[in-house]
Amino acid sequence: MTKRNVVITGGAKGIGKSLVEHFASMGEFVHFFDNDRESGKEIEKQLLGSGHEVEFHEVDVSSHAEVKKGFDAIRKKHDALDVLINNAGISKFMSFWEMSPGDWNSIIAVNLNSMFYCTREAAEMMKEEGGSIINMASTRALMSEANTEAYSASKGGIASLTHSLAITLAEYRIRVNSVSPGWIETEDYDSLRKVDHSQHPSQRVGKPEDIARACLFLSDPQNDFITGENLVVDGGMTRKMIYEH
Ligand code: NAD
Repeated sequence: MTKRNVVITGGAKGIGKSLVEHFASMGEFVHFFDNDRESGKEIEKQLLGSGHEVEFHEVDVSSHAEVKKGFDAIRKKHDALDVLINNAGISKFMSFWEMSPGDWNSIIAVNLNSMFYCTREAAEMMKEEGGSIINMASTRALMSEANTEAYSASKGGIASLTHSLAITLAEYRIRVNSVSPGWIETEDYDSLRKVDHSQHPSQRVGKPEDIARACLFLSDPQNDFITGENLVVDGGMTRKMIYEH
C-alpha cells in the first residue's frame, strides 16, 4: 500500500494519541489537530524522533475558522487526503436540571459541529481519489445513564450524520463509518477493579488500541464494501441484558 495522508482530530491524548501512533507506525503521514498545544507538541516530537511522519496543528475543532486554517496548512503540503478520523470530543455529564444553554451548546459544538466542519474540508480533498472518514461516536448513542443528555445527543447526532454523509459522498468513493467505543480506559488501566473487568462479556475493560485497530480495519481500502456502518467496540456490553434475579 502507498503512503496515505491521514488527519486525526483530538490526537494529543487518549484514544486520539493511540490513533496517531498506530497510523504513524503503519508508515502513513499523520496530521493531527488538538487544542492542547503542549501535549500535541510533545507527541509530535516523540514520533518525529522515532522516524515517523507527523505534524501537529493547534486547532480548536469547534471553531469553523480554526478548522479551515488547519486544512489550509495541510493543503500547502498535500493535494489529496486519504483518511479523516473525527475523534475529538469532550465527555461532560451534568444534571439535566442544572445544565445551562451554554453548557448544552458547547458540548454539541465540540462533539458534533466539529465533524461537519472537518468532514467538508476533508471531503473536498478526497473528491478525486476517494477516501475513508471515521467518526467517533459512543455506545451512549444507543443507551444511557441519567444526566448525560448533551453528550448522548451529540453522539446520536454523529451516528445519523455518518449514514447521511455515507450516501451523499458515495459518488466520490468516500466511505463514511462511525465507531462506538464502550468503556475505554485512557488513563490508569492498572487501577481498574476486578468488577470493572468482569461485568464485560469480554472479561476486560477496553484500551485505546482496541479502537485504533478498529479504525485501521475500517480505513483499509480493501474493506471498501463497508460504508454507513456504526461499529460497536465495547466488549459486548450493549448486548448484555441486565435483570435482578
Ligand atoms: P480524551 O479527553 O482523553 O481525549 C480527547 C482529546 O480531544 C484531547 O487530546 C483533547 O485535548 C482534545 N480536544 C477536546 N476538545 C477539543 C477541541 N475543542 N479542539 C481540539 N481538540 C479537542 O478523550 P478520549 O476518551 O480519548 O475520547 C476520544 C473520543 O472517543 C471522544 O470523541 C469520546 O467522546 C469518544 N469516546 C470515548 C470513550 C472512552 O471510554 N474513553 C467511550 C466512548 C466514546
